[in-house]
Amino acid sequence: MTMPSATISKDQQYLWHPYSSMIDPPPLFEVSHAEGCRLHLADGRTVIDGMSSWWCTVHGYNHPVLNTAVTEQLGKMSHVMFGGLTHAPAVALGEKLVALTPAGLDKVFLCDSGSISVEVAIKMALQFWLSQGVRGKSRLLTVRNGYHGDTFAAMSVCDPVNGMHHLFADVLQKQLFAPAPATPFGEPLSAGDCDELEQLLAGHHGEIAALIIEPIVQGAGGMRFYSADYLRRARELCSEYNVLLIADEIATGFGRTGKLFACEWAGITPDIMCLGKALTGGYMTMAATLCSERVALGISAGEAGCFMHGPTFMGNPLAAATANASIDLLLSDDWAAKVARIEAELRVGLAPLHGHRGVADVRCLGAIGVVELQQPALLTEIQPLLVERGVWLRPFGKLLYTMPPFVASSAEIAAITAAICEVVEIIS
Ligand SMILES: *Cc1c(COP(=O)(O)O)cnc(C)c1O
Repeated sequence: MTMPSATISKDQQYLWHPYSSMIDPPPLFEVSHAEGCRLHLADGRTVIDGMSSWWCTVHGYNHPVLNTAVTEQLGKMSHVMFGGLTHAPAVALGEKLVALTPAGLDKVFLCDSGSISVEVAIKMALQFWLSQGVRGKSRLLTVRNGYHGDTFAAMSVCDPVNGMHHLFADVLQKQLFAPAPATPFGEPLSAGDCDELEQLLAGHHGEIAALIIEPIVQGAGGMRFYSADYLRRARELCSEYNVLLIADEIATGFGRTGKLFACEWAGITPDIMCLGKALTGGYMTMAATLCSERVALGISAGEAGCFMHGPTFMGNPLAAATANASIDLLLSDDWAAKVARIEAELRVGLAPLHGHRGVADVRCLGAIGVVELQQPALLTEIQPLLVERGVWLRPFGKLLYTMPPFVASSAEIAAITAAICEVVEIIS
């Protein structure tokens, strides 16, 4: 091991990282700059980013179009409060999001981050029923293996066992959990897969404000891809039992699964939808919670007369301008062809791992490739092996996976899958 650089030593003295320890800090790599799909490390090495900085940087780093959007907006204003003031970037973004998302999502709440957009969605659902004079609809229904963020309401709907938040079980609101969807993506609903969901709705609909679910792809809770029939049936059941449907598209939105939004696989419109991550092309933090006119008007007609939420940085002009540029770039760029090509290349590149002794499953959907190992991998062992091979991935537990930027070249995808195959061979 070489000595850590001064920056890394100071970092470890002062800074928390995601899910990190201050006693036994995980290995850390300093990035000096980034360009396209490449992260340039301070020690002179370069790695291909197979993570898109956690689903975000769909256009790659340091993109001239996004850079221009930021600098042009910066020269006008980086921020103004959104209470009583508005501006063109936010209005354009609202109009765009309504036009692009499934028909029936008509009103947009701009907020700070994915977790906050989930908090906002949950608050909308709760306030909607209160405003209708319906008492007692104060719980949420969800499925196991979900991940919806790290704030308290979001934590309460993460998987109660592997959702990283079981420590807080005593302070989290007790929500209702149906089993994770079992029917794989692309298959017709297997008999019984929605039965427990239906039983929970039948038995508890009087207490349930909303069902919250990640459409088609369960992300950080297991990287599982499930049948569009399940999502379609969940939509029907919510309507039947008078429960709102919240689709958490924070990871799946903006083309990642091969549709612009994963709800399109099932042809459904949720009552509320959360967007984040790729919204600004990975340039800065911003999220959005969209809802139907019914929900928005219901809340506004209620006793409070307004929706009870308003973050300081709501509608941030710099982030909104960047989001507009990122969405325009995506739509002008034949994203669907790129994602389809990446899916095909991930399938080919990961094919040698089917039936491998160390591998339980290999699955790909859109620009997402997942290798589920037989045994959990040690991050401290596996991450340096990947970096040595010129690839940046962040495995967790048994999952070694990639969701590369859509601008990744065929050679870059091949380098990512080759590194995964080599490392699986070494650790198995
Ligand atoms: C990442 C993620 C969140 C949380 O978003 P943050 O921006 O990290 O707060 C919520 N839901 C899903 C599905 C996510 O992937």
